[in-house]
Amino acid sequence: MSELSISKTTERFAVLAREAARCVRCPSMSGRTAVLSHLNGPLTARIMFIGEAPGRKGADRTRIPFSGDQSGKNFDRFLTSINLRRDQIFITSAALCNPQTVSGANRKPTQQEVTNCSGFLRRAIELVDPFVIVTLGSVALDALKRIHYHQFTLKEDAGRIIEWQGRLLVPIYHPSPQVLASHRREAQQLIDYKVVAQAIQSGLKRAITENTT
Ligand code: SF4
Repeated sequence: MSELSISKTTERFAVLAREAARCVRCPSMSGRTAVLSHLNGPLTARIMFIGEAPGRKGADRTRIPFSGDQSGKNFDRFLTSINLRRDQIFITSAALCNPQTVSGANRKPTQQEVTNCSGFLRRAIELVDPFVIVTLGSVALDALKRIHYHQFTLKEDAGRIIEWQGRLLVPIYHPSPQVLASHRREAQQLIDYKVVAQAIQSGLKRAITENTT
């Protein structure tokens, strides 16, 4: 990216982050603030991870996606397993605010909340322009349908490299302790991350070929 386009992208991202910070589209999220800032990762990252939503003890508190809770610790361990550093990736989520139950516990964002937030996700993808997108869990995978329809499911497509909108998409499972305990165990998730590493290599090769032709 040229210096001029980096500066334009930075300006456009600042506008996006300000809009998200003021957003009140989801009534049940009043009192929460969108997690979208420079702490989500460098705009020059070519790999984007999309989670479900900030966790109450995690990103809602730290403002850094996947940090401060057990999901963040698991995520860091999986990144390390493929020698991927946080400064090489941009992380966002299907819903940018922390969804809570009336008693204050984390809950999944509703379909309407994910739809409400899909414009922010679309614009983040356009700005960062990653060649690899990794969705963490079914909510994140479904969120992409609101941007460009697809029929992929976590059950059928987890750990596969798929073409989506000119990018390589790898749907994998969420790194939460609950998912690790009952849906996708550590050993299988480590295999999934190896596929992420393969996608990054393929995306890099493709980018080099495109730049030299
Ligand atoms: S989740 Fe997204 S759409 Fe809903 S209030 Fe937060 S920023 Fe707005």
